[in-house]
Amino acid sequence: MDLQAKTLIRDVPDFPKPGIIFKDITPVLQSPEAFRQVESEMIATTQQFGATSVLGIESRGFIFAAPIATALNLPLILARKLGKLPYKTMIQEYSLEYGTATIEMHEDSVNPGDKVVIVDDLIATGGTALASAQLVEKLGGTVAGFCFLVELSFLPGRELLRNYPVKSLIKY
Ligand code: AMP
Repeated sequence: MDLQAKTLIRDVPDFPKPGIIFKDITPVLQSPEAFRQVESEMIATTQQFGATSVLGIESRGFIFAAPIATALNLPLILARKLGKLPYKTMIQEYSLEYGTATIEMHEDSVNPGDKVVIVDDLIATGGTALASAQLVEKLGGTVAGFCFLVELSFLPGRELLRNYPVKSLIKY
């Protein structure tokens, strides 16, 4: 299926730093038809994965995860950057090209036996996605799969997530 989103996502060179081509998904959000099309694909994928909850990765993951959760009547849970969540949390550190980053989840957001589908706008190296999966597992859940709008397939993200089902709607 040809998603309208593919024609709308724009390349912004040298953002946020020289050499990076940023895939800007905001034009998709500004087109209700394109956004709805993306969401309906993501809802179908999440259902196929047998999810019992939907996790959005800060921050653009939230935008896509929230309508999936409400459409399927599933809990929406959040993986956030360190220091944003107010209640008791668990954290997971992961490597970036230079240095490390940390994500955090509320410790009561996953219960043992939960099957979590993890949603983000884009997979690049896969580091953020894998760290989210590790947090879900630390909290006693299982990862039912990953759903991304965009996959940068020239980067090894999918290889990093090889132990999980991965669906991306648009590949570059
Ligand atoms: P990674 O952990 O390398 O897979 O990076 C994934 C996260 O960084 C996602 O939350 C994306 O929103 C963001 N990201 C990484 N690279 C890009 C890019 N080229 N364009 C837009 N967002 C990106």
